[in-house]
Amino acid sequence: MENILILGSTGSIGCNALQVIKLHKEKYKVFALTANKNVDLLTEQCLEFEPRYAVALNDDANQKLKKNLFLSNSKTIVLESVESLDWLASHIDTSTVISAIVGAAGLKPTMAAANSGKKILLANKETLVMAGELFVKAINHSKSTLIPIDSEHNAILQVLPQNKKLNYKSNGVRKILLTASGGPFRTYSKEQLLKVTPKEALRHPNWVMGKKITIDSATMMNKGLEIIEAFWLFDIPASDIEVIIHPQSIIHSLVEYIDGSTLAQLGNPDMRTPIAYALSHPERIESGVSGLDLIKTKKLDFEAPDLNKFPCLGLAYRALGMGHNAPTILNAANEVAVESFLDRRLSFLGMTGVIEQTLSEVASTAADNLDQILQADTLARSVARRCIGRSLQ
Ligand code: NDP
Repeated sequence: MENILILGSTGSIGCNALQVIKLHKEKYKVFALTANKNVDLLTEQCLEFEPRYAVALNDDANQKLKKNLFLSNSKTIVLESVESLDWLASHIDTSTVISAIVGAAGLKPTMAAANSGKKILLANKETLVMAGELFVKAINHSKSTLIPIDSEHNAILQVLPQNKKLNYKSNGVRKILLTASGGPFRTYSKEQLLKVTPKEALRHPNWVMGKKITIDSATMMNKGLEIIEAFWLFDIPASDIEVIIHPQSIIHSLVEYIDGSTLAQLGNPDMRTPIAYALSHPERIESGVSGLDLIKTKKLDFEAPDLNKFPCLGLAYRALGMGHNAPTILNAANEVAVESFLDRRLSFLGMTGVIEQTLSEVASTAADNLDQILQADTLARSVARRCIGRSLQ
């Protein structure tokens, strides 16, 4: 029986993970659940999955959770404070951590899991973007297992030779091709992009996801973050990571080998498939997702990304090339920009400007420990906010 902690259980990934776990109650036990504000859903999840622990980071939500569970005679213990996430991630009875908090808030508990030798199923790509080197070192040092949930990286894991280290060099890999749907504005002109609203940007053509990653998909920053994620996960240089637009989101990524073979993983765009594979790797289990109907799919299209229309992709390559904590700065500026766009304080194209300016203004320095990374994150956020303030004047 694997004892599972889900960091961010009320989110899109968290809910999908619980659906898969529900199909395999004999194998996986929900040990603890965490959320931020969505107390109604967290209460429901606690009553259904009976975890030993639960916590909502928001104080009011946590008080309500306590009350709800007390009135329902639940045995779940409600913890307090943000430190409880690290405590749960390193708890002796936690065997597997599903890291599914959105954004930088996921970094500390995921690092705690890495330092404690846990099996980590990683959805929170921001951990690898902000602290790739440190995180990979911690994983290797503690002999943790790291399995990506992100559909593209999970696809790559599926087509790499199994039972080997996630290292491309020894596996005859020539390059990795990350597929991208292109988002809702793939066919828009730059003029049309000037006017797009949060509501339009939140309408992803193929995937149902949380708001932040949906906006990242619309700007293609999501693919930029995934390039950095692939760099650390597979120990592959940025020059061997290519992005290819594939609007149907049926091929989730490909690996080209030195003999000219290209292997791909295909499936319906449903996160339960990569979650199931991450849970059971290297075995396979039922996910609840139906098989592909290729006749109905009819055709698969591909095109090159337009870096002029979607400059975030280029910014991610630039940050990766700059090294040190430049990706931390990129990530922080992006989170601030997305928040401001959703609050209608920044235009769609304004997001790129803020990220670019922040990347230029904040000096990239060493990223040797978590404190340095968190300091860079704080500084970059304040610079990004200042850029937005200036643009509003
Ligand atoms: P959601 O916004 O749907 O969910 C985020 C989860 O994190 C919720 O449980 C939320 O709680 C919790 N949360 C939010 N803020 C905080 C905070 N400050 N501290 C602690 N917990 C917090 O996000 P997604 O599920 O879409 O994405 C999660 C991660 O997975 C992201 O890093 C994303 O990039 C990645 N990912 C997502 C995919 C998807 O299909 N959704 C695909 C691939 C990767 P509450 O609900 O209470 O606010």
